[in-house]
Amino acid sequence: MARIYNFSAGPSALPEAVLRQARDEMLEWQASGMSVMEMSHRGKHFSTIAEQLEVDLRELMAIPENYKVLFLQGGATGQFSFIPLNLLRGKTKACYINTGAWSEKAIKDGGRFCEAIVSASSESEKFTTIPDVTGWQIDPNAAYLHYTSNETIHGVEFPFIPDAQGLPLVADMSSNILSRKIDVSQFGLIYAGTQKNMGPAGVTVVIVRDDLIGEADSRLPDVFNYAVQAKNQSMLNTPASYNWYLVGLVLKWLKSAGGVDAIEAVNIRKAASLYDAIDSSSLYTNPVQTEFRSRMNVPFILSDASLDKEFLTQAEANGFAELKGHRSVGGMRASIYNAMPEEGVNALIEFMAEFERTRA
Ligand code: PMP
Repeated sequence: MARIYNFSAGPSALPEAVLRQARDEMLEWQASGMSVMEMSHRGKHFSTIAEQLEVDLRELMAIPENYKVLFLQGGATGQFSFIPLNLLRGKTKACYINTGAWSEKAIKDGGRFCEAIVSASSESEKFTTIPDVTGWQIDPNAAYLHYTSNETIHGVEFPFIPDAQGLPLVADMSSNILSRKIDVSQFGLIYAGTQKNMGPAGVTVVIVRDDLIGEADSRLPDVFNYAVQAKNQSMLNTPASYNWYLVGLVLKWLKSAGGVDAIEAVNIRKAASLYDAIDSSSLYTNPVQTEFRSRMNVPFILSDASLDKEFLTQAEANGFAELKGHRSVGGMRASIYNAMPEEGVNALIEFMAEFERTRA
């Protein structure tokens, strides 16, 4: 068996210890006589797994008691629609900050249910920055302010929590949840697909302040109604039970690695080394304004695009997978989520230097 360094943007690398534990528990989970996949979601064994999952996420993120924690389906993409349907509460508009491809999708879907006001945008800077907060046009009558805390494609991350000027703040944290410490009490709602920092694809985490729920659009299906799902412990219908279990294992792994503070320190080091290597080379460049560079997704362009193909072929041959950049940005992208070990980033840096020395 040869596991390689996988820089995929998501689904992405999982901690090897988690995969090993899942393998060991595949046929029989803790003397239950069955696999987690085969358990009734209402039975005593799965109830233990589900309760622990929520306890661990609450502990890792220090989620206050007045927040509900939901584990839903439909992806973060589903939330682009379920958020307005749950949170408009009779209002007719919502504000959005546009910092890249994922913000754009949230705005487009939000616009089907309300007037989606773009309060600020970095589109004219090709999404290489975060618009200066002094220019944000936030409508006080909007239902919420939505932003994408990390733009997975453009590699732009908010180093601060924006001031929503009294509106509930809604954040798409799909690609940086649990990678850095945040104060949950500053948010109305946080959502994230699990397939980057939390486990395999198939679960969407929604953390929502309880006073914001209970007034959903009556046309919203109950499975996506936060108040209904909260009342049913996210089990109004059959949940993605095995995926919940795997997310639970990732959370346990994170706790044993020292929690969010400890992993954030590692993430800072990993990103700093990779950006330093890019900045000090004459072959690679990253276009993002320094203070808004993502710690999770590091796009880089080769100054000679005719070398792209060879770079990828050589990378693959040396055990580095999924480095091709998103088609809308081009070049390369290394996604270095929590589960990417520091050795993986250091090995990539060495490979990049060697490639530059010998090929460029
Ligand atoms: N938001 C962000 C920031 C993402 O990176 C992604 C997935 N790459 C999504 C939303 C969409 O997630 P899903 O595929 O789970 O719907």
